[in-house]
Amino acid sequence: TVDRPTLAASAPPPTASSTSSIIIDDIIRVLADTTTAARIRTDAEATAQSSTDFGTNVTVDAARPAAVFYPSCAADIAALLRASSASASPFPVSARGRGHSTQGQATAPGGVVIDMASLAGPHSATASRLAVSVDWRYIDAGGEQLWVDVLQAALAHGLTPRSWTDYLRLTVGGTLSNAGISGQAFRHGPQISNVLELDVVTGTGEVVTCSKHKDADLFHAVLGGLGQFGIITRARIPLAPAPARARWVRLLYTGAADLTADQERLIDDGRRGGALAGLMDYVEGSVLTDFQSLIGSWRSQPPSSFYSAADAAGIAALAKEAGGVLYCLEGALYYGGASDTTAADVDKGVEVLVRELRYARGFAFVQDVSYVQFLDRVSAGERKLRGEGLWDVPHPWLNLFLPRSHILDFAAGVFHGVLLHTGGAASSGGPVLVYPMNRGKWDGATSAVLPDDEDEVFYTVGILRSAVADGDLRRMEEQNAEVARFCEAAGIPCTQYLPYYATQAEWAARHFGPRRWDTFLRRKRKYDPMAILSRGQRIFSYPL
Ligand code: FAD
Repeated sequence: TVDRPTLAASAPPPTASSTSSIIIDDIIRVLADTTTAARIRTDAEATAQSSTDFGTNVTVDAARPAAVFYPSCAADIAALLRASSASASPFPVSARGRGHSTQGQATAPGGVVIDMASLAGPHSATASRLAVSVDWRYIDAGGEQLWVDVLQAALAHGLTPRSWTDYLRLTVGGTLSNAGISGQAFRHGPQISNVLELDVVTGTGEVVTCSKHKDADLFHAVLGGLGQFGIITRARIPLAPAPARARWVRLLYTGAADLTADQERLIDDGRRGGALAGLMDYVEGSVLTDFQSLIGSWRSQPPSSFYSAADAAGIAALAKEAGGVLYCLEGALYYGGASDTTAADVDKGVEVLVRELRYARGFAFVQDVSYVQFLDRVSAGERKLRGEGLWDVPHPWLNLFLPRSHILDFAAGVFHGVLLHTGGAASSGGPVLVYPMNRGKWDGATSAVLPDDEDEVFYTVGILRSAVADGDLRRMEEQNAEVARFCEAAGIPCTQYLPYYATQAEWAARHFGPRRWDTFLRRKRKYDPMAILSRGQRIFSYPL
């Protein structure tokens, strides 16, 4: 039976005249035209699942699609998009990777959500969605593939991608639609700087293979393009020889100035870094205000905790001296396997780090883990939280990019101000990340947006909290708004990463700015003129 969902009164209809039944008729026509195994579901279970995400974790009726489409190959997706384009009332279509967005970005209110996972499912028309070329050192990965599976496929050949996200159960297409950042980005750039070629189905249903050398405008548009220009069905990712192990280091600091100065020395590949430049393969950092849960922090669980109960007591005393806020520099040095670095090199490197860096003496913690344990470090925390029923809760996350010149003002106002004074937010929250990257490793032709600033270094701050108790969600959302007000008042020109704005005017003025908005709009008119794709981002509506 076709269970036709009713659109909630507040759902923005795709056009005045379209209805869910027209959409479903169009899709049924598409299915009749395709010879493959694409499927469609319109039942409440499927549409409800596609209208929630990691941010809300509840079904948002206003975000419900009329149908969920399960393609077996890129041609199915192309047929669906052509049907929408050709329709008198083009209906919204959004790819859904795994729905790890936090503000409904992968939804298609009143339209069709494409369940990308089904490209690799039992009805897949393609034998392998992960293919390594050892000779040319790349992997071809389906857009629906999880990064953890990309890693395993590459490691089977002694190879690895170089740029990661902290969490590996995200899809290739989903992170490439944003940027894909982690502690390797300072050296290798974000994941969008590590792509050789893409297969894209544009909003008009055209299937295009693009790269820096062929259809470069589409290639650059799609990278960081928030799903607005096409659906990525394959990405070719360069690979490097894989190390076997990681020396994983955490150093505690009592102030942001020392932390950031050290981080900048570590990520510098020129003169400023001195003996420290290039020692680490991964550099991140975090703000610690929650000393109770320090031992069990979910974000990066090594096989055994970094901190013993005795360490935790010492850390709490240090935090008290520092006024309640500590900073942690997190780094890793890879070695062994197919890499050129030996355990002896890493021993020496750690010696230099422990000697030269300006952390609080006595508060250096080092572990030795496998390369996979290091990269997949969030999964142990995920299992733990799932076991406690604390994974599927609302996540009012705020991710920002900030100019280097303002990071200390931001730390004073937000880490020591908004988050601390308005109810100890960071305490029942989740990790607060802060780490620098090098602008030169980002390709300005992509759709990703960095802060307007001349400085080579910029920072990312991620306030990644879970709303567990009653009232948490409202309090955290209020704090996020307070952070935005603080930045505005202090004249800190920050940009959102994984951005969310409610209106086109805000996107144009506050996120893109006039020059980048012109380019974004030009590309939208060219590749998705009916504004079909990823309407859950709330950037465009039909007609453009
Ligand atoms: P979705 O949420 O399903 O989709 C995201 C957007 O991309 C939507 O607009 C969707 O329509 C579009 N889209 C999805 N697939 C495609 C495709 N194939 N082609 C075109 N458009 C597509 N990000 C980082 O950069 N670094 C991190 O360290 C990091 N850590 C995270 C940790 C956790 C626990 C979580 C939940 C998220 C984290 N993220 C991180 C954010 C992550 O990059 C985004 O959530 C991203 O959207 C990927 O999630 P997804 O693959 O489920 O995509």
